[in-house]
Amino acid sequence: MSKTILISGAAGFLGSHLCDRFINDGFKVIGVDNFITGDIDNIKHLFNSSNFKFLEHDITVRLEVKEPLSYILHFASPASPIDYLKIPIHTLKVGSLGIHNLLGLAKAKKARILIASTSEVYGDPLVHPQSEDYYGNVNSIGPRGVYDEAKRFQEAITMAYKRFHGVETRTARIFNTYGPRMRLNDGRVIPAFMGQVLRREDLSVFGKGIQTRSFCYVDDLVNGICKLLFSDYYLPVNLGNPEEITIIEFAHEMLKLTKSNQKICFKPLPDGDPLKRQPDISLAKKELNWQPAVSRSEGMRKTFEYFKNLPKEKLYKTDHKDFSKHIKS
Ligand code: NAD
Ligand code: UDP
Repeated sequence: MSKTILISGAAGFLGSHLCDRFINDGFKVIGVDNFITGDIDNIKHLFNSSNFKFLEHDITVRLEVKEPLSYILHFASPASPIDYLKIPIHTLKVGSLGIHNLLGLAKAKKARILIASTSEVYGDPLVHPQSEDYYGNVNSIGPRGVYDEAKRFQEAITMAYKRFHGVETRTARIFNTYGPRMRLNDGRVIPAFMGQVLRREDLSVFGKGIQTRSFCYVDDLVNGICKLLFSDYYLPVNLGNPEEITIIEFAHEMLKLTKSNQKICFKPLPDGDPLKRQPDISLAKKELNWQPAVSRSEGMRKTFEYFKNLPKEKLYKTDHKDFSKHIKS
């Protein structure tokens, strides 16, 4: 009999790719989402699969599931700086009340749970590249504090459920991941640049663009999540692509890739924007035998293809998300 996996954040970028992967691998998938930053278009192709069930639900509210569950993936959370700055209290709630509900569900169902943590737990890092034994440099009261501290709390409560209740837990510290189904106007750098190219606007580089990031293609990340879920390793593991680039170099690469004649314009650097970010993935290589396989040029080509084919109305909406209807307090 096929096993059942519950995926929170199923209508989001990463959650929807994970739903596809587990359906393809023969699992029954229960997707949960309240659509606050997600999009039904990301999962509607799954609605005619008898192995897919969808629950529209806010996981900060207790969740009842009748079926036995073997696994839970917790991917519900705003993930772009623009989103979590617009909905800071929701971000804190989903990383605290939301994970508490899902850990309770994992305990009741004797299911293994994997949580999506983030490189943001390292804050603006003083150690480079970042390895899992680095405790981070986080400003708890800065604008990113709502996300960073929610994710740090999420890691802490997950370890407490493992140690105190014996729940089987896995923690993925995910570094910047990109690909089809990112929301075009969520403000993250890759959809931002792609939208600008398609609308024939200049690319907005924040600050002087000397800050670095390391971008991982979604298929690689999904493979890493699967390997971690089925491994015996319960401490946090970095998952990301170690190939590091400055944002200004990345903007030039983007213009070349898309054969665009647009220019680069410089905008103020957001408060708390980390200067450097690059995962040390030695642990993932050793424990999971995992490393990324998709080059940035290949991943970016596939991603641009997706954005090019989006309906025009998505391209021209500056922010099509109405958060207010999802927020109760
Ligand atoms: P996303 O915004 O596309 O997806 C998040 C999904 O969670 C959305 O569909 C949203 O509607 C849903 N959601 C939010 N609050 C909810 C709630 N209370 N109840 C039910 N559903 C809720 O973001 P993403 O990039 O897919 O990120 C998914 C997860 O991965 C997040 O936890 C994020 O912190 C983590 N992560 C992502 C990246 C990345 O580069 N994409 C990097 C590090 C960590
Ligand atoms: N960035 C930029 N222009 C944009 C959006 C982002 O220069 O239009 C920069 C941003 O300042 C950051 C990097 O790109 O240094 C990555 O930003 P993103 O929001 O994608 O992710 P995060 O900062 O969370 O890593």
